[in-house]
Amino acid sequence: MLIEEISCESTNINQGPSAERIAQRRADMPDVYRKNYDTAMTGNSRKAGVKAFCLECMMWQREEVRRCTSVACPLYPYRPFQDTENASERADLTTETENFDQGEE
Ligand code: SF4
Repeated sequence: MLIEEISCESTNINQGPSAERIAQRRADMPDVYRKNYDTAMTGNSRKAGVKAFCLECMMWQREEVRRCTSVACPLYPYRPFQDTENASERADLTTETENFDQGEE
């Protein structure tokens, strides 16, 4: 992706080609996940962004996200729909993610 394209997307997201691309991507996903995508695209929730990305990665199959085995993926510790094993470990990650959502990095 060109720098100009990135700049265009970040400054004119509601107009022109960027808006068309976003609308098309939104139209291509199951209805049930559009609200989360909209939240992600506001730029105010990294958690919604991770959820949207993982769901898209696994062709909108939440069970496949839960069973993801790509342990080297940087989103792996943050992916949604994880089972209840190792809940204490994830509680730490959840806190970290919430802090991340609030702007801490
Ligand atoms: S954690 Fe798994 S589901 Fe999420 S983006 Fe990475 S590979 Fe895809």
